[in-house]
Amino acid sequence: MARLSDYRAKRDFDKTAEPRGTIPRLGAKAARFVIQRHDATRLHYDLRLELNGVYKSWAVTKTPSLDPSVRRLAVEVEDHPLEYGTFEGTIPEGEYGGGTVQLWDRGLWLPQGGDAVRALEKGHLKFVMNGERMKGGWVLVRMHDEPKKPGRRVRHNWLLIKEHDDYASSKNGDALAKEVTSVKTGRTLDEIAARKRAAKRKTAALKSAGSKKKRARRSPASSRRNSAASSKSRRKAKAGSMK
Ligand code: MN
Repeated sequence: MARLSDYRAKRDFDKTAEPRGTIPRLGAKAARFVIQRHDATRLHYDLRLELNGVYKSWAVTKTPSLDPSVRRLAVEVEDHPLEYGTFEGTIPEGEYGGGTVQLWDRGLWLPQGGDAVRALEKGHLKFVMNGERMKGGWVLVRMHDEPKKPGRRVRHNWLLIKEHDDYASSKNGDALAKEVTSVKTGRTLDEIAARKRAAKRKTAALKSAGSKKKRARRSPASSRRNSAASSKSRRKAKAGSMK
């Protein structure tokens, strides 16, 4: 059993900025999970379960339902690096996954009834989540693969289903759809996207300020000095656009 009493006894957390630390409720074998709400071509929820150094990932096409009779399509996607788990921001339009990503939930998960790798191979993973929004038992069940289309990779489709427990609710199955803020920053998708737009506006403003200055400087006596200054301001504007 993990214990932090020795660690804590040595430190006065009123005086040090070190973390006091918490022991995950699910125990030492629990791993991390995140769900990123992703406003791409279609709004979806990217479920990522930490397993053997990567995030196993599924794109869930609708808000997970608390109603055990409701099954949500979860399309298996490529493994993601663990560093992805803190990502929130905007992927440029035209790039893979272009759109706004919001950290919608995070916490710990634990497979139930055996080894997770084997369960995923068999296409049936029962697990418990202890997140800020996703709690209790869930199951991922793989569906039969659709016939492979020429030149296209087979996409494995799964279903994400709530298990019957204290967190399940058939009356209020859509409750999680009301959760529209980031668990990391409290921002809505619009607010995350607006920050991106604000950064773009700032760059445009810098650029136009630079060109106005250039037009203003026309006195021959100071032209050499000005051209040095204006190339400096151009460099500044360029640096701004790379943020
Ligand atoms: Mn996605």
